[in-house]
Amino acid sequence: MLVFARERTPKPRGHAVVVGAGVSGLLSARVLSERFDRVTIVERDALPEEAVARKGVPQARHLHSLAARGSEILEDLFPGLDEELAAAGCPLLDQASDAVTVLAAGRLPRFRSGITMRSASRALVERRIRARLEEAPNINFLPGREVVGLLPGPKEISGVKTRSRVDGTPEELSADLVVDASGAGSRAPRWLEEIGHKAPGETVVDARLGYATRWYRVPGDFSGDWTGVAVLPGWPETTRGGTLRRVEGDLWTAVLIGTGGDYPPTDPEAFVSFAASLHSPDIHDAIRDAEPASPVYGYRRTANRLRHYERTRLPGNFLVAGDAACVLNPSYGQGMTAAAISAMALRGCLDGGPASNLSRRFQRRQREAVAPCWTATTNSDAQWAAGGLEDLGLARRILYRISEEVMELAVARQDVARTLLGVKNLIEPPVALLRPGILIPALARTTKRRKTRPHPTAPAEDELVAGG
Ligand SMILES: Cc1cc2nc3c(=O)[nH]c(=O)nc-3n(C[C@H](O)[C@H](O)[C@H](O)COP(=O)(O)OP(=O)(O)OC[C@H]3O[C@@H](n4cnc5c(N)ncnc54)[C@H](O)[C@@H]3O)c2cc1C
Repeated sequence: MLVFARERTPKPRGHAVVVGAGVSGLLSARVLSERFDRVTIVERDALPEEAVARKGVPQARHLHSLAARGSEILEDLFPGLDEELAAAGCPLLDQASDAVTVLAAGRLPRFRSGITMRSASRALVERRIRARLEEAPNINFLPGREVVGLLPGPKEISGVKTRSRVDGTPEELSADLVVDASGAGSRAPRWLEEIGHKAPGETVVDARLGYATRWYRVPGDFSGDWTGVAVLPGWPETTRGGTLRRVEGDLWTAVLIGTGGDYPPTDPEAFVSFAASLHSPDIHDAIRDAEPASPVYGYRRTANRLRHYERTRLPGNFLVAGDAACVLNPSYGQGMTAAAISAMALRGCLDGGPASNLSRRFQRRQREAVAPCWTATTNSDAQWAAGGLEDLGLARRILYRISEEVMELAVARQDVARTLLGVKNLIEPPVALLRPGILIPALARTTKRRKTRPHPTAPAEDELVAGG
């Protein structure tokens, strides 16, 4: 049976085990199924028939945006998925004409950008992908079982140790390749230490950002000209923001965020008041009288965390993918796309090169492939992590000044707004925002502004006078 788009010359290499049936685990399994004769996905949760949030994926209650690059990869791996999501009631929105985006610098222009997003809940996306894998003859799910360690072998590892979540029964599962896709809470560093390997070093950039999310029914008489609204924070003063978007089932998901420790509340009334305090009223105006369809859910573990597996000596047949290797601040909406990019990196490694020492090649390739996501989110979050402008190093201060001007240009010019959306959607590299047509006017504006406003760390005239 031809289940997927690309059936390859079968070159079975035995049994691959994937830890975790989240987006990264499912996409890794999809790619592995092209080259292994058997793929087993071990998942600690029971896997429900319906598209609902699971205990092991608490983030599924929060809005998940799928960047355009992520949609392209998903469609490549699962042809027709987008049509399925459309049939399930997920709206397609052009990110400039059907969405309102309010930066601290002002509103992006509304125009047809051609950069679209299928607006679906995370639970639905995951369920539809899982359904495709359930049809594949060589992919097997082991739900209700958690991986608790690695089985050492003579040279590499020989499989994983598992335990039933129902009655605690232990079971060993032998494997030729193991991919850890168990998410941000991955225990792989500890598993490695237990078999005599070193745990990876970590880089953490924490903007101290919190989420509060509530679902609403879209009012029957809603007449707004948008499918989604995003009000973005802007360092250093504008700590608050939010997103409201229509998803399947005629629901709105409203997410409020607060950065630099200004966490949004989960009390329902305080939630609405927080919405009213944003620098643009759109979200508050929409939800004020809308009927809630859920409680308010909070989430605060949002730090960017890169585990440096690319620099770690791993067993050659043990790989770490998705959030288990690189967690991105979720408010940038890139995690699922990064997982998709990692899966393509895995496919690239499986296609070319020898089977030996796959982990080294994969971890390096994955690190390079997700570098644009990591750089974009951490450049911005380093500012929140640092504090005030005076706490930034010179290079970051210059970068900040330029990006501030680029945002102003994006508000004024459609072409810059389109590039900004292209970068955010990972279909254009971050350097696209530094092309001469943007950089030169941004630099000119920075220079002009420096001449007209005092340096923020310089004491004001009256302070100098008062201080003698
Ligand atoms: C609040 C929030 C909002 C987000 N919003 C967005 C967004 O808008 N857009 C976007 O692209 N991304 C978003 N993300 C990120 C996104 O959820 C993840 O990056 C993406 O799903 C990839 O995650 P993953 O598959 O690596 O891990 P997960 O999705 O966390 O999946 C890990 C899986 O492994 C299972 N597991 C864990 N340990 C074990 C074990 N020992 N044995 C067996 N199974 C195990 C878990 O039960 C789970 O099913 C958001 C994240 C958060 C926290």
